[in-house]
Amino acid sequence: MEKIPVHLKNRQSLVIVGECFNNLKRYFNDRNTFIITDRNLDNIYKERFPDCPVYIIGPGEKSKDLAVVGDISRWLLDQGTDRKSFIVGIGGGVVCDIAGFVAATYMRGVKFGFVATSLLAMVDAAIGGKNGVNLDGYKNIIGTFTQPEFVICDVDLLLSLPEKEFVNGMAEVIKHALIKDRSQFKRLEEFSTPVMARERNEMEYMVGHSARIKATIVEMDELEHGERRKLNLGHTWGHAVEKVTGLSHGESVAIGLAFSAGLSVKKGLMTEAERRRVLELLKTYELPVMSPAGPAEVLDALIKDKKREGDSIHFVLMKGIGDVVVEPINLEELKNFAINEQ
Ligand code: ADP
Ligand code: ZN
Repeated sequence: MEKIPVHLKNRQSLVIVGECFNNLKRYFNDRNTFIITDRNLDNIYKERFPDCPVYIIGPGEKSKDLAVVGDISRWLLDQGTDRKSFIVGIGGGVVCDIAGFVAATYMRGVKFGFVATSLLAMVDAAIGGKNGVNLDGYKNIIGTFTQPEFVICDVDLLLSLPEKEFVNGMAEVIKHALIKDRSQFKRLEEFSTPVMARERNEMEYMVGHSARIKATIVEMDELEHGERRKLNLGHTWGHAVEKVTGLSHGESVAIGLAFSAGLSVKKGLMTEAERRRVLELLKTYELPVMSPAGPAEVLDALIKDKKREGDSIHFVLMKGIGDVVVEPINLEELKNFAINEQ
């Protein structure tokens, strides 16, 4: 078991990799605790839930809605929840986003923790204190920065995760290795068979390393003024791809990573051989590297999304594998690369 402390200005959050879900009740006083989960997790794991009232949301992004926040808050009120209560979110990124937001806002905030059940939640969504819901098709427009007390990552839960969702999370794992961990990148290249089989030892190692990278970056810049922007690697292009194509988040980020690698080579920051390694690794984990939508369409969506930033946008580029730099890129330059040279 690995405990990763996340030191923040006023408090500390703890990510625990390799803890067993059955030990969850050791982390709170269950008489005043309320669980938020989604229907899939409730179906598979309800026998193992601690004996607390449970609110079940529908699975998927559509639950990240203010109406759902209202429903949960109403339920909490009916249950007699007060500011001393504790909320536990059991689920993937969607549950963590909503449970975190509800906990941060209900009666101006009650303490909360997560059991992260998807790979994406374990290495990314559950760590760092960002939460929120969507509004009118815009993602995470309403939300807060509020840290959970704990994030439990029981990697055995990954065994029931659908393949597509597992691969989705691998895009963020690869992203973290590209940002800060050249040796993990190498390990992902060499150990793809046990990783894809989700072998426990390999998962504990991989999730531990990846979660630590996220935690370290969050510690340096909790509120995203500088260092934390590095986590947007692959996401500027990726979000636009996601919007245009409707591909999953992980698939879109993979395409964004490949795009960023290409631009990094063009800018002389990375070698062509390293770019090939990035593409190969993404393909090894069954992730796409080319957008099914044309660059003009993606660019259009990107510009619309970033219109507040002016003539240039912040783009995360790779300085080889394991290091990145955030640079302003002129939109004309980006357009030229995307349409003519990609
Ligand atoms: P993400 O974690 O990728 O942000 P979600 O929270 O929507 O997104 O989770 C993706 C899907 O996987 C959801 O349908 C969720 O119910 C399901 N899921 C999450 N964790 C598990 C698990 N351990 N076993 C089975 N299904 C899971
Ligand atoms: Zn992401």
